[in-house]
Amino acid sequence: MIDYSQIESYSKCDCGAITIYFRNGASNSMKESTRKKLGIDLHKISKLQPSYCCNHCVNHWGIDICECGSGLPAGECICGSDKAVETFGEKFDSFSKILKNFC
Ligand SMILES: [Zn+2]
Ligand SMILES: [Zn+2]
Repeated sequence: MIDYSQIESYSKCDCGAITIYFRNGASNSMKESTRKKLGIDLHKISKLQPSYCCNHCVNHWGIDICECGSGLPAGECICGSDKAVETFGEKFDSFSKILKNFC
């Protein structure tokens, strides 16, 4: 279930991904197809200016991208992991991710 009271806004990127901003400071990037799969109704969320780059295309961060940073879809990556970089509604902790990659 999507809790729209927790969602502040969203923006669309040139790459086709959208980024959703939450009131708790989290943001999630995802492909349009992932957005549809989750059933997120953008009409209920206020729209920001379109962007030309986002975490999805620049950093390979998103709730549908593999955690290893390959940029491949979660669950279809050659690394064998089925975990995504981001969890829906949770703040992406890049610092601990970076630490984990070095340990
Ligand atoms: Zn993008
Ligand atoms: Zn991977």
